[in-house]
Amino acid sequence: MRSRSKETRRGRQALGGLPPLSDRTVSLKSPREVEAIYAASQVVAQVIAALREAIKPGMTTRDLDQLAKELYRKHGARSGTLGYYGFPGQLCVSVNDEVIHGIPGKRRIEAGDLVKLDVVAVKDGYYGDAAVTVPVGEVRPEVERLMRVTEEATLRGIAQAVPGNHIGDISSAIQQYVESQGLSVVKEFVGHGIGRAMHEAPNVPNCGLAPGKGLLLVPGMVLAIEPQVNLGTAAVRMLDDGWTAVTQDGKWSAHYEHTVAITPQGPRILTRLT
Ligand code: MG
Repeated sequence: MRSRSKETRRGRQALGGLPPLSDRTVSLKSPREVEAIYAASQVVAQVIAALREAIKPGMTTRDLDQLAKELYRKHGARSGTLGYYGFPGQLCVSVNDEVIHGIPGKRRIEAGDLVKLDVVAVKDGYYGDAAVTVPVGEVRPEVERLMRVTEEATLRGIAQAVPGNHIGDISSAIQQYVESQGLSVVKEFVGHGIGRAMHEAPNVPNCGLAPGKGLLLVPGMVLAIEPQVNLGTAAVRMLDDGWTAVTQDGKWSAHYEHTVAITPQGPRILTRLT
């Protein structure tokens, strides 16, 4: 799950009530804390792997919610999204033109759909957060490409998460690659620090911050890096449920996310299944 950028046009209310993070202190994690975040992140990776395997046409998004609930329990964890500012799901499930924060419910998944799973696990007081985009059977070629570009943009952003770089190096790597491919980066939602809370400082925008700008990256920071990319324009709007963001033009969107520790040796992807 991603945090809401403070520069959102529609403001805090329209986007579900998360406060801006940029004025909070960044907490640096000890090696022991990084291992605790890693443990939570590995639960996230296991849950995502199992859900990816389980998704079939005819299931409802609530079926995925139920499965996630069982999986957290099996791994000694709980959902980080359930009850977060009142969010009612064990995870976020966003389908096709839904960009993020989709609420699991009665919607039936169909062949050819694009399902975004955003999974947050809490284990022993620490959070892990990742998102993945899952094609249900065969998807249209432009949708397949949207997925590939979004995943690559995520990895290019992560590659910049090294000591001595700045947040803007992550943001600009994502934005430049996505736009070079003729696709759009969603501006309203940003990545974030993570640790004892799901959303910690700093914000990690996916666009609008130049290389070398923003906070200096140092070992001990743990960041959730999570671009959302649209086939059409970048504009999004909120559904009446107060959570689900959809594209304004109805074209489809993709989302990937990893929880990443900044180490002297470079970025360590904690939510990659090991
Ligand atoms: Mg997140």
